[in-house]
Amino acid sequence: MKVDLHTHTSASDGALSPQQLVQQAGALGIDLLSITDHDTTEAYNRLETANSSSTILIPGIEFSTEWKKVGIHIVGLKIQLGSDAIRSGVSRQHQARQTRARLIAEKLAKLGIENSWDAVNIIAAGSVIGRPHFAQFLIESGVVRDMNQAFDKYLGAGKAGDVKQFWTPFAQIIQWIRDAGGIAVLAHPHKYKMTRTKLSALLDDFSGAGGEAMEVISGQQTMDVTRNLVTLCQHKKLLASCGSDFHRPGQPWSQLGKVASLPPGCKTVWESWA
Ligand code: AMP
Ligand code: MN
Ligand code: MN
Ligand code: MN
Repeated sequence: MKVDLHTHTSASDGALSPQQLVQQAGALGIDLLSITDHDTTEAYNRLETANSSSTILIPGIEFSTEWKKVGIHIVGLKIQLGSDAIRSGVSRQHQARQTRARLIAEKLAKLGIENSWDAVNIIAAGSVIGRPHFAQFLIESGVVRDMNQAFDKYLGAGKAGDVKQFWTPFAQIIQWIRDAGGIAVLAHPHKYKMTRTKLSALLDDFSGAGGEAMEVISGQQTMDVTRNLVTLCQHKKLLASCGSDFHRPGQPWSQLGKVASLPPGCKTVWESWA
């Protein structure tokens, strides 16, 4: 089974159109694919035709939220796209993104970087605004040289662009996913750079609120990370998911469909659907 349950398209901050992504997944022989764009399910509206390959598409989304002042992401899998819960959830997250973007622009202005609001709206061209749009503005205006520097200096954790207070609370997001008939998956736990104790506490709160799964594999990761996450997944009695977090070609750490197999001993989300 070739499985990739975490990918992005041009409906959020990915480079490929939904159609291109599904086509590439088919060509790569991916059996199970989910498009999990940031706070939007628009990719599913943009798919032109039913795909002719044997790839099964699982409706998904990646919601942004926070837990104890850490920005975290929760993937919803096998959600009913037209459900009231997803519709109202997406609309609330879009409002949060607008308010957040205004505040980021104000904070950048205080640092002497003017006019980012107008520029970012042009760059986003009608899509919901994310930090990658601010990064592109900072690069184009010569303030930084690349994406990494944009996040290091202005947008990443602890910097001006790190605004989390507008996101819907964690437990509410899990409830939307459940109300839409889906499974809530804690995305890329290793990325939060938490101590094991803190991650364990996050997972307890997550399952307490109705979260059922965690990503045991996210893109390229070391064996050590995998071992730790497998153990946590088993201890917390969660289902295991996996995904590349693919955004664009040319990023070796997150290539479409390039996801290590889950070690035996983890019950997978797709087994729970069978
Ligand atoms: P947002 O959804 O607006 O919070 O923006 C977060 C997105 O920015 C992530 O999903 C990544 O795609 C991207 N991102 C985060 N950190 C970095 C980084 N250090 N370099 C490049 N892109 C990043
Ligand atoms: Mn992204
Ligand atoms: Mn994420
Ligand atoms: Mn992602």
